[in-house]
Amino acid sequence: MTGSAAGGSPAGAGPTDTDWAAAVAAVRELPATARVLLICHVNPDGDALGSMLGFGLGLRRLGVRQLQATFPGPPEVPEPFRWLPGSDLLVAPDDAYPDPDLVICFDVASESRLGDLVDRLDKAGSALVLDHHASNTGFGGIHLVDRHAAATSVVALGLLDRLGVALDAEIAACLYVALSTDTGSFRFEATTPAVHELAARLLATGIRPGEISRKVFDTRPFGAVRLFGEVLGRARLEPAAAAGRGLVWTYATRADLARHDQPAYVLEALIDSVRCTAEADVSCVVKQAGDAEWAVSLRSKGAVDVSRVAMALGGGGHRFAAGFTGRGTVDEVVERIRAELSGALLPA
Ligand code: AMP
Ligand code: MN
Ligand code: MN
Repeated sequence: MTGSAAGGSPAGAGPTDTDWAAAVAAVRELPATARVLLICHVNPDGDALGSMLGFGLGLRRLGVRQLQATFPGPPEVPEPFRWLPGSDLLVAPDDAYPDPDLVICFDVASESRLGDLVDRLDKAGSALVLDHHASNTGFGGIHLVDRHAAATSVVALGLLDRLGVALDAEIAACLYVALSTDTGSFRFEATTPAVHELAARLLATGIRPGEISRKVFDTRPFGAVRLFGEVLGRARLEPAAAAGRGLVWTYATRADLARHDQPAYVLEALIDSVRCTAEADVSCVVKQAGDAEWAVSLRSKGAVDVSRVAMALGGGGHRFAAGFTGRGTVDEVVERIRAELSGALLPA
């Protein structure tokens, strides 16, 4: 048992000294022949990929030779993240070590986010979980879960520091992508003085924030620009929802993507254009993932705990940014959200 597991919820106070020591030992005591498998969540975002690849590069610097990184689902990395250093560690899920000596999970709040790769967790010698979701279920063996961390990369750097890995520009680029994506470019509430100090350490390695931000946030195909126009044009505002705090939502189908010849990842940025609606506290984008399956993104400006909504509907996330997989029609999915909203109001 690790300290946090023994001390209660792994999503409580953050990693204890015992947790850190257990994680350091799990890495340091690996035999030279050990196979290490890094896994991040399905449909990976900047924090999932950045913290995983940045940590992977750190392990490589420590001399770990048999090292793979993967994530469940289609093995395509979204274009904005393809340039990330350490991408050569990536393998398709089917090619991942079937019974690794150590599995390390990044930004994964629950086993369901591991898809078919959950079997690697069962077969692994030991499992280390680096995460920052309040909704983390406590799966795996050694937990480094800090719900107050702005990104999983904060935890990853905490462990790299304790392992004595020197920060270099390649590791820093990965961790900077992770930190800047999960803080909305240092705009969200989780952007503490410590986050800026961490960013300063990363920038001091010589990485170029302007260039990185342009690649990650400010570049999309023209087809995606036109697709956004269409999808934003059908957004609905419901001022009475969430006990009068307001809901704004829209949806995008696979046919929309096909019409504009766009891959699914381009839709990830849509929520940022929807959530700026002044008249709504809660925003939502419903993205088709299967015939009757929808990946739902929820955001709140502070009046509603959207992680409660998402958890009630089988998903998870953070207070002001959460998601779940919805089934049925778009209207059925949105109706379920409406029904959960008033029960998820935060005290004023
Ligand atoms: P997204 O809207 O996809 O950017 O996700 C916002 C937050 O909700 C992230 O912290 C995700 O990890 C979490 N999240 C999104 N979808 C799911 C899901 N299906 N199950 C659990 N957590 C989710
Ligand atoms: Mn994530
Ligand atoms: Mn994250």
